[in-house]
Amino acid sequence: MSQENEHVECLIIGSGPAGYTAAIYAARADLKPIMYTGMQAGGQLTQTTDVENFPGYPQGIMGPEMMEDFRKQAERFGTDIRFGYVSSVDFSSAPHKVVVDEIKTITADTVIIATGATAKWLGLPSEQQYNGFGVSACAVCDGFFFKGQDVAIVGAGDTAAEEATYLAKLCNKVHLLVRRDEFRASKAMVARVLATPNIEVHYNTETQEILGNGKNVTAVKVINNKSNITSEIPVEGFFVAIGHKPNTDIFKGQLEMDETGYLLTKPGSTLTNIEGVFACGDVQDMYYRQAVTAAGSGCMAALDAERYLAAKEHPVEA
Ligand code: NDP
Repeated sequence: MSQENEHVECLIIGSGPAGYTAAIYAARADLKPIMYTGMQAGGQLTQTTDVENFPGYPQGIMGPEMMEDFRKQAERFGTDIRFGYVSSVDFSSAPHKVVVDEIKTITADTVIIATGATAKWLGLPSEQQYNGFGVSACAVCDGFFFKGQDVAIVGAGDTAAEEATYLAKLCNKVHLLVRRDEFRASKAMVARVLATPNIEVHYNTETQEILGNGKNVTAVKVINNKSNITSEIPVEGFFVAIGHKPNTDIFKGQLEMDETGYLLTKPGSTLTNIEGVFACGDVQDMYYRQAVTAAGSGCMAALDAERYLAAKEHPVEA
């Protein structure tokens, strides 16, 4: 059978914890979901090392291995998982149209969006080299590995302020690297940072390089952009907290989003402003951004899709 212009009940876009959990629930509810993985099958967790905070893995698990478990569980119930990226969508009328790899059009009664968000990085080669070996974009995920040690964190927004205070509880010393002479974060968050004795704020400070011994991070080389003086701060961990970009470019003009591009959902649900289109995981969550919260909202999206289809099939008389 040709796969051109096929129609599905439930199409899932994205393959992180939200997408796979939606797939498990949708498949078990017999919605026969098809999932397009996107270019990074498995999502952000495939770029991490140890995951110790996902319930059910008492000894922890490597991120890629955990996503492999998610995939197998989704497949076990019949999810049709396909490698490919969604290049455009048309949600202007039902059924919704989704174009895959720019050539193939699929129509879908329900679409579950789980395209996630991408952490912004400084763009230094050393940052890539030590990613997962001392460099991290998530203090809540990885702070524990630096218990009692010295770390640096770059950023000056609410995330950096929150993560610095989180790290300060675990670590010996936290160096907060702020590129301007002031924070962007809210006053309350800044006050909390400044009141934490083991956080040292370095203003007007930019990261030049993350230094290491080939295996682990050992220091960060910084420059003061006022005095042009460079220095090295010995640290074992380096956290980047300069923001995330939700992966929503293809939904612009189709779905309601906030000014930074996060999809808006009806509070307490995964419903977007378009009937039959649901959003879950980091693509609609700038606050929690955890695998377990993404998975929870993936479950909600599948239940919302199932109930939407059931209501369409058996409308309740007014
Ligand atoms: P933001 O975009 O608010 O802040 C990013 C920060 O990173 C800015 O201070 C920016 O500096 C800095 N930055 C960007 N690029 C670089 C770079 N190359 N080198 C050094 N620093 C850099 O992102 P957040 O993730 O902090 O917050 C996102 C949203 O989520 C915000 O609306 C925030 O309020 C919200 N949030 C709320 C929380 C809460 O209320 N509990 C917790 C966490 C987030 P500069 O200021 O110089 O531009």
